[in-house]
Amino acid sequence: MDFDLTKEQLMVRSTVRSFAEKEIKPVAQQMDASGEFPWPILRKMGQLNMMGMTVPREWGGAGVDSVSYVLAIEELAKACGSTSVIMAVHNSVCCHPINVFGTPAQKEKYLKPLAEGKKLGAFALTEPGAGSDAGAVRTTAILDGDNYILNGNKIFITSGCEADILLVTVSTEPPKGTKGLTVFIVEKGTPGFTYGSVEDKMGVRASATSELVFENCSIPRENMLGDLNSGFKVGMMTLDSSRIGIAAQAVGFAQAALEEAVKYSKEREQFGRPIGKFQAIQWMLAEMATKVAAARFLVHRAAWMADRGQKISKESAMAKLYASRIAVEVANNALQIHGGYGYTKDYAVERLFREAKITEIYEGTSEVQRMVIARESLR
Ligand SMILES: Cc1cc2nc3c(=O)[nH]c(=O)nc-3n(C[C@H](O)[C@H](O)[C@H](O)COP(=O)(O)OP(=O)(O)OC[C@H]3O[C@@H](n4cnc5c(N)ncnc54)[C@H](O)[C@@H]3O)c2cc1C
Repeated sequence: MDFDLTKEQLMVRSTVRSFAEKEIKPVAQQMDASGEFPWPILRKMGQLNMMGMTVPREWGGAGVDSVSYVLAIEELAKACGSTSVIMAVHNSVCCHPINVFGTPAQKEKYLKPLAEGKKLGAFALTEPGAGSDAGAVRTTAILDGDNYILNGNKIFITSGCEADILLVTVSTEPPKGTKGLTVFIVEKGTPGFTYGSVEDKMGVRASATSELVFENCSIPRENMLGDLNSGFKVGMMTLDSSRIGIAAQAVGFAQAALEEAVKYSKEREQFGRPIGKFQAIQWMLAEMATKVAAARFLVHRAAWMADRGQKISKESAMAKLYASRIAVEVANNALQIHGGYGYTKDYAVERLFREAKITEIYEGTSEVQRMVIARESLR
């Protein structure tokens, strides 16, 4: 068993770390306050090959492995939740499925500009009545000549109103439930495609979580991703691998909270000495550090297995379930260690506490992860 990172993985981590520390962390609090979508940062990330990380070089990507990808997400999440989720969605639920299921023409037209960072991607599955239950999707696509006509609403779509290229899951045969779903590639500006509200959220506030509205929106048949009625398979396979990215994001939040707590424990003095000298604080820090390390191992194992082409449904769900849970716990403890100051916006732990919570919800709630793990365990 080799726990060493390769030269390439170390290089990816140090490049993303120094970019995140210099360009993102200093503006993270301000982005959180304003909710402004971070276009200038995303453009720079495109130039640094972060927007098509695992996409092969022939399609404009960086062609690195999944372990490098999770290292990058952890570094970004340490600096800013919004930037890390926009990047994770773009890479793992937009670029990745086009790379796996797309035709050469779709890859040329859509994957290349996405992977080169010239276009931004999004993934639209959730609807008002279809959250955990993806089979309840009501947005329809009806064939009309050579086009499909889309009607319906999507909600909670990360980068929804900003993205250029969106993968939209619709029902092509409503009576069939999950067996009647199909994914289409939809371009921003297509007539009949507009936006509804943008959510005012607790955390990841600059990630433009939007409602999408389709009213007689005509999409060419050649924009179907994968086969007709294969949308559930495309979606589940996509989520299996993308969950490692959200798990890595959770590790990033937890690591950042731990670092803030360690720093504060050395600085803050009460009863004539730094609070880090008290055993209560030391034990809290010890538990936090151990949980972060354990979560990171689960994430790296799932990514390592993905790189070997192994089935990772169970492992990615375990990584997300555990990493998201400990991210919430560690952020909570980090805030506790900061006392009253941690409850103010003067310290990053307040934002990390709010950001950590989302990892228990999106890309499948923790209850859904338990369902996946139980199903795979009972096979
Ligand atoms: C900030 C943010 C960004 C998002 N980005 C995207 C995106 O880019 N694209 C996209 O498609 N979606 C996105 N989502 C949607 C997200 O994936 C869903 O919110 C999530 O899957 C849960 O669905 P729901 O909110 O409808 O909750 P529900 O499914 O209604 O769940 C409510 C509660 O019931 C529990 N529950 C549901 N079914 C069961 C069951 N069978 N057994 C036990 N418990 C159950 C859930 O775990 C949860 O605790 C985003 C959401 C947020 C908040």
